[in-house]
Order: sequence, then structure tokens, then C-alpha cells
Amino acid sequence: MNQFDWEKGFAVDFSTGTGLSKTAKSTKRFLSQMKGIFCENDKIEEMISKEDILVYEFYELGCPERAGDLAFGTTILYPGKVGSEFFMTKGHFHVQIDTAEVYYALSGTGYMVMENMAGDTECLPLTAGEAVYVPRGYAHRTVNTGGVPLILFFTFAADAGHDYGTIETKGFRKIVRDVDGVAKVMDNPKW
Ligand code: MN
Repeated sequence: MNQFDWEKGFAVDFSTGTGLSKTAKSTKRFLSQMKGIFCENDKIEEMISKEDILVYEFYELGCPERAGDLAFGTTILYPGKVGSEFFMTKGHFHVQIDTAEVYYALSGTGYMVMENMAGDTECLPLTAGEAVYVPRGYAHRTVNTGGVPLILFFTFAADAGHDYGTIETKGFRKIVRDVDGVAKVMDNPKW
């Protein structure tokens, strides 16, 4: 699967926005894997019973998980909602918590929802052509508030590791909801 040489370097074609998809390993997250993530949990069960749709997928190149390397890839987050809450990724801290990440939006619109262990929150807009820097120490999740796939390039320290569990138990303090056709960042009622 991985024909790239992490010792000599290589080039990747992103010209189609999802160029990685031809060569990289993809991980897919369907609605059934997102139970308990959205506020309106009864709505997700109703949706799954009709069709277990794909919420997002990400593509990675199998970077060695070692200090000094940079893992990178793309995330494709599809448009949709569970109740009034926009589709989003599960979100995570890095195991090595003091490692940052850069996201660059290739297409679509949304938010990067972030919070640190002290409870400080930041929600930054994601717009095609703009980058968002996720500072060290911040858990992060992306939310698609538009009508087209939100496609992001990401890169982070290859040995950072992923901690999904901390977020899974309680979610983020902020959620993004559709209020009369407008995306609003608001307090998570589950907190
Ligand atoms: Mn990350």
C-alpha cells in the first residue's frame, strides 16, 4: 500500500483535492460508529435504521510513528446533520499532548472546535484556501457547516499519538448547530 520512501522523500498530487485517495490507506467512519457523539442520540438511531451513511474518511500514507517525522494526509467530512447538529469528526487529544497540528482547507466550509484540559475553548472557521493552526495541548474536531464535502489537508508530529477516549466520554464544551439555517457555536447541553 505504501510505496513512498520516508527516507528519501516523495511528492503527492493534491490537484484533485482528494489526490491521496488513490495511493493512501483510508479509514472510514459511518454513522453507526458515531453513537453517543451527537447531542440528539435518538435521531442518530433513526437515521442508522434507514441507512448507515458515511460521515467522514481520512487518508494517510503510513508515516513511521517516530520523532522528527511529519504525518500528513486528508480528511473528507461529508455534509449532513444529526438533528440540528452538523456532521463532525470524533475529535481527539494527542497522546503527546504538547504537539500541534496544521489543517489547510482544500474545499468546503466549517469549524475547527478546540479545547484544552483547562477548559479553554476556541472555535475557528475553516474556509477553502485558509489554514488553521491547532496549538499544542488542544483537543480538536472538525465540523462541516456547508452543503459540500469539507476537505482538509493535515500534518502533525508523527509520534503524537491519538487519544479519542477523553473526548468520547463527555464531548467538547462547544457544539455547532443549525439554527434557522445559520451555523451557531453554542454550549454543549451535555456538559
Ligand atoms: Mn490531531
